[in-house]
Amino acid sequence: MPFFISKILSFAQMSLFITSLNSGSNGNCYYVGNDTEAVLIDAGISCREIEKRMKRLGLLIEKVKAVFVSHEHSDHIKGLPVLVKKYQLPVYITPLTMRRGGLNFEENLFKSFIAHQRVLIGKLAITPFPKFHDASDPYSFVISYNNICVGVFTDIGVPCNELKNYFKQCHAAFLEANYDEDMLDKGNYPFHLKKRIRGGLGHLSNKQALQLFLEHRADFMSHLLLSHLSKNNNSPQLVEDLFKAHAQNVRVIVASRYQETEVFHICRDETPGEIPVYNRRTKPALQLSLSFA
Ligand SMILES: [Zn+2]
Ligand SMILES: [Zn+2]
Repeated sequence: MPFFISKILSFAQMSLFITSLNSGSNGNCYYVGNDTEAVLIDAGISCREIEKRMKRLGLLIEKVKAVFVSHEHSDHIKGLPVLVKKYQLPVYITPLTMRRGGLNFEENLFKSFIAHQRVLIGKLAITPFPKFHDASDPYSFVISYNNICVGVFTDIGVPCNELKNYFKQCHAAFLEANYDEDMLDKGNYPFHLKKRIRGGLGHLSNKQALQLFLEHRADFMSHLLLSHLSKNNNSPQLVEDLFKAHAQNVRVIVASRYQETEVFHICRDETPGEIPVYNRRTKPALQLSLSFA
């Protein structure tokens, strides 16, 4: 094998690949994997859509080894029963979330988890930690592999210290930017709903997400995927403009509520002597990596 190809291959083997298959109150499903295994965080779109979107991206569903469930709201679990049954996937979910979500899985597929205790799925390490949200037992997740760290942070009422600490460790993050405060304020949602959204157990505003990003992002962060945007109280363009104005060297992507994003290749930007010289935000490396996906 030519030297350069083997370098690219080993590079792909050391990276994480991430995509949002859908993001928003109509369904959430996030893919994080290395070159041999992957996990899904939530399955809030149908199994058929998950299959279709992964196929379009060149991702193999056979690489998905487990699903982790953040909480029981339907936009996070709708596709779960069919997906789990069809592919016999282990589901990492707390008993309370399972009960409140009206879910039931074959005994051998039901796996629980404990806050801050890492779960190993092959070489991927998934760490759950609790969050503020109006669900029975809600969690965020951080997935790490080869010292690369990706966070999935949506459906969060307030950015607590735990979120800040985990955010600091991330090379990439799916971060909720749910609503523009002005749009929510002036919009036609009933008062009780407005109160729920911004009341500390609802969702992160653009402003809260931006503050978290500005104050706690690591120098090595390469990708920020803004997620779970409200259809009525936000606009993708507004969010993109707001964050891009402050992004510096971080690539900002707004995850869609209608379709998958592209697959992003997340790597450490330093491993002397091991990684071929290239800019992590150039397209050719991404395309090369996809052929291995
Ligand atoms: Zn949600
Ligand atoms: Zn929720």
